[in-house]
Amino acid sequence: MDIVTREHRSRMMSGIRGKNTGPELAVRKAAHALGYRFRLHRKDLSGSPDLVFPARNTVIFVHGCYWHRHEGCRYCYNPKSNVEFWTEKFKNNVARDQRVGQELQQGGWRVVTLWECETADDDGLRKRLKQIFRS
Ligand SMILES: [Zn+2]
Repeated sequence: MDIVTREHRSRMMSGIRGKNTGPELAVRKAAHALGYRFRLHRKDLSGSPDLVFPARNTVIFVHGCYWHRHEGCRYCYNPKSNVEFWTEKFKNNVARDQRVGQELQQGGWRVVTLWECETADDDGLRKRLKQIFRS
């Protein structure tokens, strides 16, 4: 039956939209080092993006590979228990990400997703940000 307790499950679920996670901090640090000005978690924008760069009309989401299903990524493994629960959960996460992305694009924002696995290497991350902003 259900081997995950209710308490444990709610803790896991709250992790879906965890703020101030390691990967997110790494992106902030890199953006700051490059001198890009950004704001955090603007509540007035759909999905409350992790980093918002108003001058560059760009928002960045830092997505966990597991929660947001980074296809082909080694962190995007499948759980072995509660499979139905997780399948439904993942489906909803991906659908929400798509909806949020569309809403932001309709509002004139460029939407960039950085995956957790892209944030481990500081140099690589800075290169990626430069590439995104072409400067
Ligand atoms: Zn990944």
